[in-house]
Amino acid sequence: MRDTELCRHVLGLESPWEVSRVDLSAEGERIDVWVDHPKGTRWKCPECDVMLPTYDDAEEREWRHLDTCQFLTYLHARTPRVECPKHGVFRVRLPWAEPMACPLRTTRRRPCSSTSSKRLDT
Ligand SMILES: [Zn+2]
Repeated sequence: MRDTELCRHVLGLESPWEVSRVDLSAEGERIDVWVDHPKGTRWKCPECDVMLPTYDDAEEREWRHLDTCQFLTYLHARTPRVECPKHGVFRVRLPWAEPMACPLRTTRRRPCSSTSSKRLDT
């Protein structure tokens, strides 16, 4: 299994998302993972769920993911945008950036889990 495929499984990424590159810094205890999608992928309009082609991709952003063992783990991706004839141009929803996903954190070693997010919502 290639390292990018292994990383995709470890991070729980599903199609159409695929890992295009992985950088591991042993000294920095950090893993950076670049996530991409195949050309021609269609996305749901976040307002009405109609499937649309990619309009363009926004600038690359970085999200903090759950740590991989002791390594801080960051996802990098360009969020696809769609142009819905009814609602206009929108960024699509990203599975790792949904409300229950871990937000980008700048502090080190802070555990982040869906349980703690859920507690905040109630
Ligand atoms: Zn729409």
